[in-house]
Amino acid sequence: MTIRLVKIIFAVVVLAGLVWTFELRKTAPSYSSNNISCGGSVCNVVLIVNDTLSSRHLGLYGYSRATSPFIDQYFGQGVVFKAASANVPWTLPSFASFFTSNFPHQINFENYSDKLSDKFLTFPEVLRSGGVETAGVFVTGINNGIFSRFDVGNRLGYEDPFTFAAAEDWLLRRQFSQKPFFLMIHNRIVHDPYDPPTEYRSLFGAPAPYPGSVTDSQIVKANEQGLEPGERQRFIRQYDQEIRYVDDLTKGFFAAIPEEVLKKTIFILTSDHGEGFGEHRRYSHANSLYGEVLDVPLLIRGPSLTSRVVSQPVSLIDLAPTIVDIFGLPRPASFRGHSLLPLVNGETLPEETVRTELAYKIWPDTGFETLTPAIRTTPLKERGYVALRRGDWKLIRNPDLKLELYNLRSDPLETVNLIEHRGDLSAADSTVVDSLIEGVAP
Ligand SMILES: [Zn+2]
Repeated sequence: MTIRLVKIIFAVVVLAGLVWTFELRKTAPSYSSNNISCGGSVCNVVLIVNDTLSSRHLGLYGYSRATSPFIDQYFGQGVVFKAASANVPWTLPSFASFFTSNFPHQINFENYSDKLSDKFLTFPEVLRSGGVETAGVFVTGINNGIFSRFDVGNRLGYEDPFTFAAAEDWLLRRQFSQKPFFLMIHNRIVHDPYDPPTEYRSLFGAPAPYPGSVTDSQIVKANEQGLEPGERQRFIRQYDQEIRYVDDLTKGFFAAIPEEVLKKTIFILTSDHGEGFGEHRRYSHANSLYGEVLDVPLLIRGPSLTSRVVSQPVSLIDLAPTIVDIFGLPRPASFRGHSLLPLVNGETLPEETVRTELAYKIWPDTGFETLTPAIRTTPLKERGYVALRRGDWKLIRNPDLKLELYNLRSDPLETVNLIEHRGDLSAADSTVVDSLIEGVAP
């Protein structure tokens, strides 16, 4: 062996060592002071997003029907955020908003055709650059520049109900992986049409025979003409039957997860928005800013977490900072929300004013008959169609600029508009309400 050859081999070994060291640095997330760990190591995170799942229809949130026995039992032993809200009640902007921890108007995301610009940083990208392996299992056909931000995302798109099976498969292959991972599962099973599988169609006192699917066109008609009480009950019942189906799929998913993964993983369950059943004349979602379309479950369970209920209002804009924090990574400056880990750990956070907003362009014929064409085409941030919630108070500024004020403690279903009675409020309440009025100004 010549001296030259020895030198070459030495150089290759040194170079390989440097690359190995660099890779280790790249893939080893630093630990933060968040007190969350799984057996002394950084935890993995699995996020389940059940599209269109209103928290008002889950037992953990007080619903009377047994729609969610597994979710109630499993996540009831974790941290339950009782007052969690979507920031916009429609799928694409809601995902774009919580992926970037920005509001839809800040990222110009209001229409079906909008695409999330590459210039907006999403949390999967933050995780990737911090050495976390990321995967998204989502329903085929939905992307808009949002779901392509994972290491594996596009290739894992599936049709319902196979999203859970695909996630299971991915998890099984990661059970001995040393690299921390993040997995998101997105399914649209409870989204309309409400057409539960055969074995769920007799639940909750359903009459036989099965009257058939609640279709998109039936929902459009309900928005235009209202519904007879019996027909409204059918809509709700079939939606609830689908929730029970998702609950069973969730149960099966957890049963298949190896113990090795369970003890190193934090599970988060939420939704992108809720669903309306005529509470304020409207059906489906994306057409109002009332609680039925905004209240979402936010449930967190992990091996080191203490069971507790958090009643402080929070919103999905806080989800990305929370996930990034679980991995011990710093919150990017572009994120508008804040990590919820202090609340998860039983500590306090300053009270948040929860902001929700809605692009109206997509549903021009639903609800607001008084809208002028000029208002319809005005950009969202100028139109001021927003709602703010702080403590017990919620203020909605409609697209026609009318205000609605509700006290959610005494009137959680938002039935009595107190805006004309705000002169009767205590000084403390007036201060909060005045700040909300100032906050919704276009
Ligand atoms: Zn959705």
